[in-house]
Amino acid sequence: MTAAEDIDVVVIGSGMGGATFAAGLAPSGARILILERGERLIDHQNARDPRAIFQRGVFRPEENWYDAAGEPFNPGNYYYVGGNTKLYGAVLFRYRAEDFRPIEYAEGATPGWPFDYEELEPWYSRAEALYRTRGALGDDPTEPRHSQPYPCPPVPDEPAIADLRERLKRIGLHPSSLPLGVDIENWLKDGQTPWDAFPNTGSGKMDAETCGLAEALKYDNVTLETGARVMRLETDGAGKRIESVVYQKNGETLRLASKVVILAAGAVNSALLLLASANGAMPNGLANRADQVGRHFMNHNLSFALAIHPFRVNDSIYQKTLGLNDFYLSDGRGGAPLGHVQLVGKISGPILKSELRRAPEAALGFLTRRTFDFLFMTEDLPSPESRVRLDGSRVVLDWRRSNLAAQNGLLRRMRELLKEAGFPIVLIKYYDRRTPSHQCGTVRMGSDPARAAVDPESRAYDHPNLFIVDASVLPTSAAVNPSLTVAALALRAAERVRKDLAA
Ligand SMILES: Cc1cc2nc3c(=O)[nH]c(=O)nc-3n(C[C@H](O)[C@H](O)[C@H](O)COP(=O)(O)OP(=O)(O)OC[C@H]3O[C@@H](n4cnc5c(N)ncnc54)[C@H](O)[C@@H]3O)c2cc1C
Repeated sequence: MTAAEDIDVVVIGSGMGGATFAAGLAPSGARILILERGERLIDHQNARDPRAIFQRGVFRPEENWYDAAGEPFNPGNYYYVGGNTKLYGAVLFRYRAEDFRPIEYAEGATPGWPFDYEELEPWYSRAEALYRTRGALGDDPTEPRHSQPYPCPPVPDEPAIADLRERLKRIGLHPSSLPLGVDIENWLKDGQTPWDAFPNTGSGKMDAETCGLAEALKYDNVTLETGARVMRLETDGAGKRIESVVYQKNGETLRLASKVVILAAGAVNSALLLLASANGAMPNGLANRADQVGRHFMNHNLSFALAIHPFRVNDSIYQKTLGLNDFYLSDGRGGAPLGHVQLVGKISGPILKSELRRAPEAALGFLTRRTFDFLFMTEDLPSPESRVRLDGSRVVLDWRRSNLAAQNGLLRRMRELLKEAGFPIVLIKYYDRRTPSHQCGTVRMGSDPARAAVDPESRAYDHPNLFIVDASVLPTSAAVNPSLTVAALALRAAERVRKDLAA
């Protein structure tokens, strides 16, 4: 066993939460070891091949999860250095200020956060700096206060998207530039493709490996160990302090001790690790005296829409540069909020074929030259019945979707508006459980230890030396992409741990 004197902090997972945490703590000189289950993604011809990525799923894991009815499915949950951010769309939104307060939807309400937006604002600014976020202030009516401008100007619209932006403006909407972690010249240098759901094997995408981890590894006191899959955490006899981390590497089981343990394996796997670590003192799993671990699984309600005018060609390569928050705070007619709209990476024939397996790819190619492709995102409300759990060694994801009235309302409203903007045909499809890309909420943060697993500073109520810094702590999913909020919370937790170690 490696002794606690050698390591101050072990970080489990090198995705958005883990890598960003390590970047935040590294300057303190603390000896940090990052254990990552996956390996680095290396450059490969498949990395820009939409057939390999979308039709053959070559980057997906070789594992199945099960739904509540016992049906297996292969989840799009990625185990690489950098985690899910290696394939993410790099949209780096701040939650809106209103997201930190309870929100009333037509079908239920959110609980609000244990602190308000202003508490997280400075950490959002630092996260935007670390991820070199490109964006512009002023166009989005819901943009919260920024103490710092975006570090870089927005990624430019391609001509067809510039035209779309004008069309949306003409019908009274407020399209704004998406905040993006993308260096577009650098990305396109390696291939003329979109970046959304494509793996980043170069440095065009600002992801947890190219930004958070790269920053952390500039410091000699930070080490990364790949291929190291953590299996469980062990506590002292009273079930209080985490004493050791047990992991497997090259078929061997290893154990190490650390003063502080940082869990950042992603919302599904962090909850499972805590549950799998049950012992005599903590029979329901670690951090789980309040029976919160694994519950409140949220994932956004996501659907994509193809807006078509038969005679208008969309020759964009990447497309994903604008979003709409006109219906984020209300339906625009005095009713409850609906959600957020953004463009997805340009959908092509090979990509669409992964959804429509029987259709000829050439026909889909002809069609998608005429589509403008949108993502509709609505908040998933936290429910204790929506959960991830272990059944023996099986991962069971019993996701109870919520708030579908908001999703359906957004689809109806956008269908009308897209018609008005010159797109008479709008085809829509829901994403299903195979896409757990915005997973969150399973080890939630709160100020009441009877209803939350971690305190407002990300420390487990039951274990003083355990912090959780990934998407599992999010008390609400909001209706914008989660990564920047995960990063901001991780930087804030790093400051807490720095103070603890210095005390
Ligand atoms: C296709 C796609 C598109 C997306 N687009 C966006 C977007 O545009 N904007 C946005 O904000 N978000 C987006 N997301 C979501 C975003 O990637 C996640 O919200 C974010 O990565 C969550 O960070 P995390 O730290 O919780 O988990 P992750 O980043 O997934 O990191 C978890 C890490 O833990 C490792 N790990 C897991 N289990 C173990 C174990 N037992 N031992 C050791 N290591 C382990 C994993 O390999 C991984 O590296 C997208 C996701 C996908 C899949």
